[in-house]
Amino acid sequence: MPAYEYGCKDCNKEFIVFLSLKEYDAKPKIRCPHCKSDNVVKKITGFFAKTSKKS
Ligand SMILES: [Zn+2]
Repeated sequence: MPAYEYGCKDCNKEFIVFLSLKEYDAKPKIRCPHCKSDNVVKKITGFFAKTSKKS
């Protein structure tokens, strides 16, 4: 299932939302799980893109 990364503008935290394409198409109202704000911005689309291999 695709994961969408959001950042909250109110508390500046980042969170991941898992949505099926069908759910995403319905443009759900995403809320920050930390402060319940809907003042969030999507950061990346699709699957986890952070595959940095530095360790
Ligand atoms: Zn928040």
